[in-house]
Parts: sequence; C-alpha cells; structure tokens
Amino acid sequence: MAKKIKLKDTYRHRGLRLQLVKELKSKGIEDERILQAFMQVKRHYFLDPAFADWAYKDVAFPIDAGQTISQPYTVALQTDLLEVKKGDIILEVGTGSGFQACILAHMGAKVYTIERQRYLFEQTNNLLKEIGFAHIRTLYGDGYKGASRFAPFDKIIITAGATSIPQALIEQLKPGGIMVIPVGDGDVKSMVRIRKGKDGRLTKETHGYCRFVPLLEGKTGKKPKAVNKYVNLD
Ligand code: SAH
Repeated sequence: MAKKIKLKDTYRHRGLRLQLVKELKSKGIEDERILQAFMQVKRHYFLDPAFADWAYKDVAFPIDAGQTISQPYTVALQTDLLEVKKGDIILEVGTGSGFQACILAHMGAKVYTIERQRYLFEQTNNLLKEIGFAHIRTLYGDGYKGASRFAPFDKIIITAGATSIPQALIEQLKPGGIMVIPVGDGDVKSMVRIRKGKDGRLTKETHGYCRFVPLLEGKTGKKPKAVNKYVNLD
C-alpha cells in the first residue's frame, strides 16, 4: 500500500488502465460509468509501489495485514450488480485497500466503509485523504453488525466471503435496496444479489462463483487514535 512515497500517475499507467478497461469490457462489463471509474481511479496507488506493474492486471493481489485487493473484474462485477446511482448511500463491509470504495464514490455514491483490522483501517484512511477521497467515511468495526448509526442504506456491498447473510445487514437495507454478497460454505463463494422489496420481501439471484478472504466476526486491535473522520462503532 502506498505510504511515505510520492504518488505519481504517468502516461504509462494511463495506458495500462486503458488496457484493463478493454479487458473488463471484453469480460462483459458494459456500463460506461463503471469503465470510466476504472479509468479515473488509479489502482497502482492502492498497492505497494514495488508492485505497481501488477496494479492493472486482472488479478487479486496481497495488500497489508494478510488481506487482498480484489481482482478488478470482481470489483467491476459487484459494482455492476449493485446498480449504483448518483446519491446512493452505500455501506461497504471490508474496506481493505479502499479501491472498491473509491470506485463507488467516483460514481457519485455516498460511501461508508467498515474495516475490522485497525492497521488496515488507519492505512487506508490516510491513503484516501492523500488521493482526494476524504469524503469516503471510513469506519473501524465489525461489519457483521453493519453500521446502524448511519442506516438505512440504499445499497450494501460485502467484499469478504461470508458463510451466511448477516441479519443486521438485511435490517439495515432500505426497502427497495440491493445487497451484493459472496456467500458459501467452502472457499468458493456464490456471488449473491439480494433485492429487498418495498414490502420488505427478499429475492435472491446468484451470479457466478468467486474467491474471497473470509468475512470474520469481531474486530482486531485497540482503539485507533483520532484520525480523519474516525468513528468507532462500539
Ligand atoms: N474491498 C477491498 C477488498 C478487501 S479484502 C478492496 O477494494 O481492496 C476483505 C477485507 O474485509 C479485509 O480487509 C478484511 O480485513 C475485511 N473484513 C473481513 N471481515 C470483516 C468484518 N466482519 N467487518 C469489516 N471488515 C471485514
């Protein structure tokens, strides 16, 4: 993850982004707003500079604290399934590198994102400020419980693999809202989209399979010192 280095975007990076966008298109991502967001959000800022070349390959990649930044196609697919509209209030569970949150924010959503690992939360919070995404609200806590203080949400996206759908998240979804969550018993999860009807009824569809780091209950680390927009959910 980018730390004490100067972040730089070059023509070469731009060229690599364009290639990635073409690849996403060829894999079925058609929404121009999503493709534009991938063109504008500089993914190499979210990886250690030593691995900048990997930033624009369509693969998942390790970041700090034993976690991964999701594969670009997975980010694009989850974003697509979420049917993001300008002004949507979105909760993301699993901040990680912050890349997915930036894609959503770039599309005009008001984003709240929760991370359970204090170290990652702090790193990413700093990075988002540095790269012009200070308006994303970063939260430190257990996303299993959602973020009731800011609920209800138009959309909820879970970017870690769940074994079941957390009830608190269902409750914090607005009627008419959409949740996208990878769910399954084993390593391979189904990508599930849940729609909550105006009457509160849920309908589910699955959209292929994927791998994710696990959604774990509880949070790790002591309370962080005050950082930008820090909110402890307990
Ligand atoms: N959206 C991220 C991908 C993150 S990987 C990105 O764009 O880079 C999944 C992240 O979910 C990890 O950082 C992990 O620590 C976090 N996580 C797992 N369980 C969680 C929980 N219950 N609450 C909040 N974050 C959680």
